[in-house]
Amino acid sequence: MALSEFELIHRYFAAGRVPVAGPGVVRGIGDDCAILTVPPGCELAVSVDTLVSGVHFPADMAPREIGYRALAVNLSDLAAAGATPAWFTLALTLPAVDEAWLAEFAAGLAALAAEAGIALVGGDTTRGPLVITVQVAGHVATGRALARDGAGAGDLVCVTGTPGDAAAGLSQWGAPGADDYLRRRFLRPTPRLAEARLLPGLASACIDVSDGLLADLGHILEASGVGADVQVDEVPRSPALAGWPDPERALVWVLAGGDDYELCFTVPPDRRAELEQAFAAAGLAFAVIGHIGAQPGLRCFRRDGSRYHPAVSGYEHFA
Ligand code: ADP
Ligand code: MG
Repeated sequence: MALSEFELIHRYFAAGRVPVAGPGVVRGIGDDCAILTVPPGCELAVSVDTLVSGVHFPADMAPREIGYRALAVNLSDLAAAGATPAWFTLALTLPAVDEAWLAEFAAGLAALAAEAGIALVGGDTTRGPLVITVQVAGHVATGRALARDGAGAGDLVCVTGTPGDAAAGLSQWGAPGADDYLRRRFLRPTPRLAEARLLPGLASACIDVSDGLLADLGHILEASGVGADVQVDEVPRSPALAGWPDPERALVWVLAGGDDYELCFTVPPDRRAELEQAFAAAGLAFAVIGHIGAQPGLRCFRRDGSRYHPAVSGYEHFA
């Protein structure tokens, strides 16, 4: 590469607006390892996600949006664990050193990193087809991390936001007159960090919705050894999807569309009031969409009490 790896990192990340220092960063970019301090009384939460151009995002997506989204999908994993974001590393595989592309990519990354209070502490830079890997680390009070295996019979099934919007937005990619709100929900998913902060100690299980609401709820059910009844008409819909010309198509996006990065969690019924108060006090919202039962499997119902059999349950990478 014409620009050396070190110059590239320095110019676009370290000297740009991407935070590279912060609490617990003893050594960041520039050494062989980042050296980090986890706050006392906390455990380390770590997750990694790779975005492959043309697979996880359209090849013509703007670099600023790619930068934002690469971090957003990873922050969502920290949210699902109830962890506070602290540090991330970035492995970039680039077809060429395109400085305009890098500046835009870094700007998108920087915007969300600053907002989430997460510092870039290292990474790797290689040449090849465009692939972005972000690894995030955060901390959570010892023993309080949320997991998929804690749901119990009688718990309520809850979800944040309005699932389905991102899939609807992606389906309209490049279409003339595409809905701007829906497109944006795909481009700039909101990692539900504020909501996640309220869940430890109240929620019994949690997952972020990356593959589709029912598919990801299915992971909670499997890990917890339980089943669920879901009232599909109780899942909140954005005005864009509530008014969609084909309501059955919209419902498939709501239940099976990926890429929303909402949180799906369960809460014991006797903690519901406490959780509602905490959310209301923070100006946040969630919806109850069903309940957990001891009988395994996922059963869906319409408002009139009839069974609903979803045609597709979610995105599977190797299906
Ligand atoms: P090494 O040879 O030890 O792998 P590198 O030459 O790959 O080191 O990287 C030099 C420094 O720059 C390291 O501290 C590394 O973490 C950092 N770095 C490399 N690429 C990136 C990147 N894309 N984002 C952030 N930091 C990076
Ligand atoms: Mg390296």
